Amino acid sequence: MEHEENISIVLSCIDYRFWPDALPKLEKKFGTFDLIELAGGSKNLASPASEADRRAILESIQASVGLHGAKQLILTNHTDCGAYGGSEAFNSQEDEIEFHQSELKKAASIIRKTFPDLEVQRVIIALDDKNKIQLMKVP
Ligand SMILES: [Zn+2]
Repeated sequence: MEHEENISIVLSCIDYRFWPDALPKLEKKFGTFDLIELAGGSKNLASPASEADRRAILESIQASVGLHGAKQLILTNHTDCGAYGGSEAFNSQEDEIEFHQSELKKAASIIRKTFPDLEVQRVIIALDDKNKIQLMKVP
């Protein structure tokens, strides 16, 4: 079977309030991707509920690299994520964003150790004041 040249991987949470708008935006920005969806998204790398969750993510990444030659991984987390206790677990929206930035950083460093050749992008998916999905790229 033929496959695309420059395929990426997206790691996403399952949350129906976010992915239907977020995934097409991610595709527009980063091109075709393999999708790994597990409740909590990048939490499963940064601070997994169990080692098995982290292993499942790493195995799916390995499959995408091995089968499709994926070159880039887009790690995502989203605001009000139930896996982290939702927005109410944070004192402010800034606190929540800052927290997700540090989670994505942790997740990225795990990936760099395991897959040193993968380009890693970090994106926070948030709702703006009009309840529209925004992608916030973490530098
Ligand atoms: Zn979530």
